[in-house]
Amino acid sequence: MSDKKIDDVDWERHGVSTISVNHANSKKMKQLLDSKGCGFCVAKWSQVTMHLGTGLTHSCHHPTPHKIDLEELKKNPGALHNTSVKKKARKQMLNGERPAECDYCWRIEDNAKETGSETYSDRVYKSLDSWSIGEHDKIINLTGEEDDIYPTYLEVSFSNVCNFKCSYCGPSFSSKWVQEIKKHGWYTLPEEGYNFTDNVQIPESEDNPYTDAFWKWFPKAKEHLHTLRITGGEPLMSKHTFKLLEEIRDNPTPDMELSINTNGNAPAKNWKRFLDIITDICNQDKVKKFTLFISCEGWGERSEYSRDGMDFDEFRKNVEAFLRSTHNTRLVFMSAFNLFAVSNFMPFLHYTLQLKKEFNFNGLLHWMEETTNGQSTNLLKKLNWELDGILNESLDDRPVRSMTERKNLARKNPNERVGIDIAYVRYPDFLDVGTVATEELVIDYLIPALDFMYRNNENTDWTKFQGFTDQETAKLKRIVEGLAFQLHRNDQEWTNKVQLSRARFYSFVNEYDKRRDKNFLKTFPEMQNFYDVCKEAHDPHTDSDGNPEYWHKDSNGNRSRQLPEAAKEFYSKERTND
Ligand code: SF4
Ligand code: SF4
Repeated sequence: MSDKKIDDVDWERHGVSTISVNHANSKKMKQLLDSKGCGFCVAKWSQVTMHLGTGLTHSCHHPTPHKIDLEELKKNPGALHNTSVKKKARKQMLNGERPAECDYCWRIEDNAKETGSETYSDRVYKSLDSWSIGEHDKIINLTGEEDDIYPTYLEVSFSNVCNFKCSYCGPSFSSKWVQEIKKHGWYTLPEEGYNFTDNVQIPESEDNPYTDAFWKWFPKAKEHLHTLRITGGEPLMSKHTFKLLEEIRDNPTPDMELSINTNGNAPAKNWKRFLDIITDICNQDKVKKFTLFISCEGWGERSEYSRDGMDFDEFRKNVEAFLRSTHNTRLVFMSAFNLFAVSNFMPFLHYTLQLKKEFNFNGLLHWMEETTNGQSTNLLKKLNWELDGILNESLDDRPVRSMTERKNLARKNPNERVGIDIAYVRYPDFLDVGTVATEELVIDYLIPALDFMYRNNENTDWTKFQGFTDQETAKLKRIVEGLAFQLHRNDQEWTNKVQLSRARFYSFVNEYDKRRDKNFLKTFPEMQNFYDVCKEAHDPHTDSDGNPEYWHKDSNGNRSRQLPEAAKEFYSKERTND
């Protein structure tokens, strides 16, 4: 293992000092990380997600969250980030091992190795990101035992209060889900393991030792923050979110980037309050940059089916109102790519592209100004071209300026206001495209979607910011690649897993429809064949009582429910199934 440093690598840069996030540098970052250890990842130190409503934490957001020890927290509020579980994983990384909790990345890396593809996991992307890369040299000399590590990227959830109950979510993250499970019980799926939780939420109205620790820890922690990201539940329904936004408005942090995850459908008065505070923060440069991460991966009624609670028209209105009424802001669609998104991802990509073209600073103008020091703007005005609406009245607002003025302007008006981040859903397994999707779905929908992204890639100066970036496209590419690989696996263990997950999908979707008065096949008629394949996986395997054979049985042959004590208590009174 070597202690190679950042400056020992010949990075591609833009400007004098900024290391570009691109394919060539991803390769170099992987080599650098591997020189320390095959599981080494800067994000294990630099990034934390904390769920204060349940007292859970993880780093990054991929590993399954674990409980923060209250005794550790009493001694040091920094235990919100430096738990013993994380310290163990950090030590493993420094010792050349791959911690099991990071299997999200290992699966991508193993697939890439097997197929010989140059696809990178988030271990690489997150270590290369601007909030992480500066931490690398310090971390390689640590032991992993340190208690005083502050993250540079903090994601905080104050509670699970939410007005949605998305199909892939659950009671740990959504209060609406809690209500449903209390009313109907957990889903009775083959092999169970879905939607029970022993992570009971502390209501916002009650004392919460994790939130108390956060408010003690935050004043010092914010001095280290490159990025603060507020998440939920639906964060725009939590009083703590507004407390934190008001704290930033009243005590500006001009070097910190701020972002919020939202479902884009918070109640109207909350949405207005949020827009008012953000406008104030952004107009007066009280943070470096603001990004709204807004969840969506589908279109119209199909999206409303999966993201139960969504009003798609209202969602679009909110997206466009945010882009029009705020400045110095970005909006990134956060796409949790899951089975329900497959057949309707394409129209959603079209919408994203349309917004990019409308709101991102035009690449042609960018090229002209950069390469001719702005002089060409006058030529364009004289020519008065009509290029696909590219040259519009905004030219009049862009008189020739010095490069310093231009750079300041670019900082205030980011070139790229609209983006998309595609992550794949692994849990629940039956919505994991990488496990359950059929060849037909890949051919009919996924490859065309990937083709659409590549054909609209922003790969020249001329169309810069007017299409999908390399990194955005790479995220869908790795899903499709992984699938192509999985579809040709024929070992028994994998075949059983696929069959079981499809059987679980069938069982889930029927119960979901019944509980929520929905109709999968009416909403997704194009998925009839997929539904039939799942039914086939489900039906033949029933025991004499008609229960699927996939159920866990105890030693007496009875269906077993090995629930944690807290979960039993949580669900005990109002369960109606079983
Ligand atoms: S290795 Fe992957 S899962 Fe683990 S912390 Fe890094 S990015 Fe996250
Ligand atoms: S909006 Fe977010 S928190 Fe709410 S149910 Fe959907 S995924 Fe869960």
